Amino acid sequence: MSDLRDDVRDGFRNAFKSEPAGVWSAPGRVNLIGEHTDYNEGFVLPFAIDRRTVVAVGVRDDRRMRVASTYADEVAALSMVELRPGQLGEWSAYPLGVAWALGEFGVDLGAVPGVDIFIDSDVPVGAGLSSSAAVECAVAIALNDVWQLGLDRQTLAQVCQRAENAAVGAPTGIMDQYAALFGRKDSAVFLDCRGMDAEPIPLGFAEAGLAIAVIDTGVQHSTAGGEYAERREACERGARELGVPSLRELRADRLDEARQVLDDVTFRRVRHVVTENQRVLDTVRTLRERGPAAIGPFLDDSHLSLRNDFEVSTPELDLAVETANANGALGARMTGAGFGGSVIALVPNDALSLLRVAIDGAFAEHGLGQPDTFVVTASGGAQRDF
Ligand code: ADP
Ligand code: MG
Repeated sequence: MSDLRDDVRDGFRNAFKSEPAGVWSAPGRVNLIGEHTDYNEGFVLPFAIDRRTVVAVGVRDDRRMRVASTYADEVAALSMVELRPGQLGEWSAYPLGVAWALGEFGVDLGAVPGVDIFIDSDVPVGAGLSSSAAVECAVAIALNDVWQLGLDRQTLAQVCQRAENAAVGAPTGIMDQYAALFGRKDSAVFLDCRGMDAEPIPLGFAEAGLAIAVIDTGVQHSTAGGEYAERREACERGARELGVPSLRELRADRLDEARQVLDDVTFRRVRHVVTENQRVLDTVRTLRERGPAAIGPFLDDSHLSLRNDFEVSTPELDLAVETANANGALGARMTGAGFGGSVIALVPNDALSLLRVAIDGAFAEHGLGQPDTFVVTASGGAQRDF
């Protein structure tokens, strides 16, 4: 991590031939449980991980904005008053979109000084660990500081979500931004996406001799693709046909009625969201009352629901979950939106090395590329580093 902060300053100097004003960073996240519930006003329980996106930012004496990243060769540059969705490039739509979205939230982009931004990161891209929100949130807290905007973190989360929805065009919920901005060491962020209350929930993995292993299948997912939008639409259709403002309002005891009213696919999408909300509440209660070793069954049930009802898993994710559970994990599930990306497994520390070997072996046996298996720890949210 300290290497990354040095690298980002060197990268900034090389790209822009000047000194940055400061360095800021924001973490990636895993979602412990609560998948595809955020845009249904439901519950989520992500935690920020010890992988971060770091940005060095310098203030210019004109009104231009330039962004460069170790992720890409080109430098994106434009005048701040030209910031418009659809004209921000591909990867550069994330950082430039945050500046545009700040304008939508009332910042006068004709009055603030221009900036140069250099981005470096050790959050894997497209692995379901939210490299996208890490970029957005690092840029947002940096601009909030250098432009002296005084915006609170709730507002910055909304700004970043607006950037991803409108400037990038990915209709994602707000979970990732909350995890990146409200993450705390050794805690998960319990977020009620209706009231937008974020509460830290101590995890206690280390004390219990447990770890969360990420198994990155290497199959890149994309939230900008049609499948994600299609799942969102199915949830909205289900809520509309059942006469509730959002699926959050649908109680489990109405699922029998829902089965009569809805077509089979819509019903199963709805059932996933309703049962997943309950699993988040059960996981929080279990963490408090019995500790982290007892939450495994909720992770397993979540995966089955995402696989069978919401249909966002893949053969690689299913193989990783099955292999982890057959080799010492207490529970495992896909994490993030699905269609690729990563699995998380709750694993006793002394079972980790065996698990890694078993995963590699199973993927080789199925003729699949080798996954990347690594432990993540719950870490702090976005901050200024220098
Ligand atoms: P995830 O958030 O799961 O990693 P997304 O598809 O939501 O996947 O976001 C990945 C996109 O975010 C990349 O394709 C790229 O455009 C952008 N991105 C991620 N990390 C960086 C980075 N370090 N520099 C520039 N752009 C990045
Ligand atoms: Mg993302």
